[in-house]
Amino acid sequence: MIDNTKISKFAISVIKTLQNNNFEAYLVGGCVRDALSGIEPKDFDIATNATPDEVRKIFKASRIIGKRFKLVHVFDRSELLEVATFRSDIKPNEDESDLIKDNTGKIIRDNVWGTLEQDCFRRDFTINALYYCPITKKIEDRNNGLRHIQKKIIVSIGDPQVRFKEDPVRSLRAIRFSNKLGFKIDNQVKDAIYDKGYLLAGISNARLFDEFCKIFLNGMGEKNFTKLHSFNLIKYLVTTNPDSDDFSKNMMLSALKNTDERVKNNQSVTPGFLLAALLWPILLARCTKNNEINIRKFFRSMDGVLKEQQRLTAIPRKFNSYIKDIWVLQLKLHSRIKSQPYKTIRHPRFRAAYDFLLVRERASNDQKGLGKWWTDFQKNDDALRGSLIARMNEKSDTESSKIFGFYNELR
Ligand code: ATP
Ligand code: MG
Repeated sequence: MIDNTKISKFAISVIKTLQNNNFEAYLVGGCVRDALSGIEPKDFDIATNATPDEVRKIFKASRIIGKRFKLVHVFDRSELLEVATFRSDIKPNEDESDLIKDNTGKIIRDNVWGTLEQDCFRRDFTINALYYCPITKKIEDRNNGLRHIQKKIIVSIGDPQVRFKEDPVRSLRAIRFSNKLGFKIDNQVKDAIYDKGYLLAGISNARLFDEFCKIFLNGMGEKNFTKLHSFNLIKYLVTTNPDSDDFSKNMMLSALKNTDERVKNNQSVTPGFLLAALLWPILLARCTKNNEINIRKFFRSMDGVLKEQQRLTAIPRKFNSYIKDIWVLQLKLHSRIKSQPYKTIRHPRFRAAYDFLLVRERASNDQKGLGKWWTDFQKNDDALRGSLIARMNEKSDTESSKIFGFYNELR
């Protein structure tokens, strides 16, 4: 049984309105699955037999979006709902233009309307194909989704080899749901992930950026990373070094741990920070020789590293400069003499760069006290600041210059 107090009032009112206009309307997908699994549902998707144009006409505050999947966004001041028309994968006789597959069998457009029965069979997993009417409190379940929720298992609707070929992103979704819900992945689904995972290379970088965010910024980043790694799928989401060393792995895991902790503490997380951290080992590998950084190469490699990542996942423009600022500030954090620390601390990205430094330190066994130095320096205590800098002036900041060997020369 679903407790309606866990369901958005706005979603219930939209369903009532659709039903009052003689349409069928249900809550569907993640919110039903989560509510039944004891997880607070976060967003509410509605499925209906009204077409997008009909939905658009009923709700003043709504807009039709999407091409590949046409949907209607219905919103009020604080909430946005996705209202999707039941779809069928059966081609209408003459006009096939609304369901188009490419030469690998991937669906590139899917706008053929259908019935609830047909809609069920186009969804990815049985646990995602439950339709709940909050008025009658009845659940429509055509694929044993309820049983699979009870058994805690992720089962594909139809042959996963075929379904994952139609849409390779389902591999990523299976992994994400299994960690989010603590469910096992059915063996057939596992096989399909192994067999069809390579098709992720053909998915647009924009869509993979969306998935990247869902996978790594939802509080389960570290677990998802580990599982993606075991299925050999990381390489479709993050540029990695083929011969990655311990530092690379530790840095990535440290960044993900940090992100997960922030999510748990309701602190903000940004894909920019995470990408900066995930790509840091690659950047260093590009410009380090015999344990020394070539600063010129460091600056020259930044754009190249970002460009390579862009081929996998789009990176919204605003994050490009954010990421580079964080990287360059890592060099500046090492310079702690004279007036330099006062300039560094005033940089608008200082706080992110300092957090990044802590992530780096957690990743390397070799802690040099730099993080602690900056923690102290941030205490608004002029005498303390003066003595911290004086100590550095004496040492000429050589203690931590090993990995940034050329930095002092180029300053
Ligand atoms: P969450 O919101 O927690 O990521 P969700 O299951 O709600 O999970 P959405 O991406 O919001 O995921 O999609 C809503 C529903 O649409 C899914 O539950 C599923 O039924 C269907 N769906 C989404 N993406 C796909 C896909 N790639 N293939 C088949 N069905 C899908
Ligand atoms: Mg959802």
